[in-house]
Amino acid sequence: MSTHALQIRDLTVSYTRIPALHHIEFEVRCGQCVALLGPNGAGKTTLLKTLAGLVAREAGTIHFHGREVRGATPDIAYLPQRGQIDWDFPTTVRGLVEMGRYLRLGWWRKYGPTDAAAVDGAIHSMNLEALQDRQISALSGGQQQRAFLARALAQEAHVLLLDEPFTGLDKPNQDTLKLTLRQLREQGKLLLVSHHDLPSVREIFDQVVLLNGELIAAGPTKETFTEPNIHRAYDTRIFSAVDHGVAV
Ligand code: ATP
Repeated sequence: MSTHALQIRDLTVSYTRIPALHHIEFEVRCGQCVALLGPNGAGKTTLLKTLAGLVAREAGTIHFHGREVRGATPDIAYLPQRGQIDWDFPTTVRGLVEMGRYLRLGWWRKYGPTDAAAVDGAIHSMNLEALQDRQISALSGGQQQRAFLARALAQEAHVLLLDEPFTGLDKPNQDTLKLTLRQLREQGKLLLVSHHDLPSVREIFDQVVLLNGELIAAGPTKETFTEPNIHRAYDTRIFSAVDHGVAV
């Protein structure tokens, strides 16, 4: 199994000069399923979008497999929150998955049989064969998630950034997604998943990153997903006291 690392060092991101993330540092590796946790506004989406090259950083570095990541790279795929996607965009499941292939190909190489085989493989592994000609607007929430995961697989991304993928899914689809995440981790993918359902963290994730503007803690779930760390991340009163140098 690959152990390529994603290393984030001293990362600061601001929107119109108001910092959303301050001096974030942690390292995660391929073959891990990582929960990105924190209250509303903690900066989870900002972190995922920055890693995907969709939001500019103010300071800090991001390295994947020893190489500096500057902007978007096919190695890293971002799956937005469902509400941010235009589901009426006229494309089929297969068309969506092919887009992942074009991201890997670049504009100068022609789509060929190897690409079609990669798309077939991605559709097969997400169990979407029967739905591949269907418009994405006519899929269930769980099927839509799987279509976007298939696009990331066709892209041959090593790092999958998932923004609240469990939100809005019913129990059977949540269970299918849990299984899919486990399979992708076993294939050596690095999964970084923003998540709001704290009771399910231990079941799904082997690592956690706790955020609240700053990094609260990062590491194996057993050691990091502890009561004091959860309180520090979610208790904004304590957080803002700490932020202002007040002892608590
Ligand atoms: P949630 O759990 O509610 O989705 P989050 O942890 O993903 O929240 P972000 O969406 O990353 O948090 O937001 C972090 C901070 O940055 C918030 O204070 C938010 O208001 C601010 N923010 C996010 N996007 C923008 C933007 N495009 N312009 C200005 N400020 C923004």
